[in-house]
Amino acid sequence: MGGIAPGVILDVDGTLYSTSSACAVALRQRHREIFIRTTGLDGDDGMREYARLTDRYGLALVGAAIVNGHDVDAVLGAAHDIDHGTLIDPSPGLRRRLTEVPGPIIAWSNAPSAHVEGVLVALGIRETIDAVVPLERFRNHPKPSRRSFSVALEHLGRNPSQAVLFEDSPSTLKRARELGMATVAIGLDAAMDYPDIDAALDAPRVRGMLGLGPPG
Ligand SMILES: [Mg+2]
Repeated sequence: MGGIAPGVILDVDGTLYSTSSACAVALRQRHREIFIRTTGLDGDDGMREYARLTDRYGLALVGAAIVNGHDVDAVLGAAHDIDHGTLIDPSPGLRRRLTEVPGPIIAWSNAPSAHVEGVLVALGIRETIDAVVPLERFRNHPKPSRRSFSVALEHLGRNPSQAVLFEDSPSTLKRARELGMATVAIGLDAAMDYPDIDAALDAPRVRGMLGLGPPG
């Protein structure tokens, strides 16, 4: 990657905390409630509409708000209105690992700013993040749109070949690789590179990518 320290792009949900955590469970429940409240659809009808809206708008809740004449910000805000501080434990280990990273770090998410900030503060890593790039920054073009990538890279101050993406979404990982980024797949699925972000940041392969020596 030349002489320049690569930039790190961190996805938030499913990457900085597990999809099986209390926060993820609360968030899924909250999303479901708000989706049903917004569309009036539950069960099989709700699932079909969820899939249709995800396909058409990138994010089902954005589509649900638009189609049903609701305010997008209000719907997304309500869906992410959880108590981050009680659902996410601080992670001093993650904080230490991120502090070591020589290049810039951004948090990049299809969630609204308030949720991303809530997660980062609860984990105790907010100060390690140089910029938060939430949905508001690329509103009509959620990840994995080209627009969402260009906004992320702009905030990172790097081109794709100087960026490392940590992410749990297969479609976003695929697009990142097509653009020439290095990728680190996070998740409990066997197809993923590492089960969690801590394991990824301890791995020699990843530490090499980021310009770090062996774990201290
Ligand atoms: Mg994610």
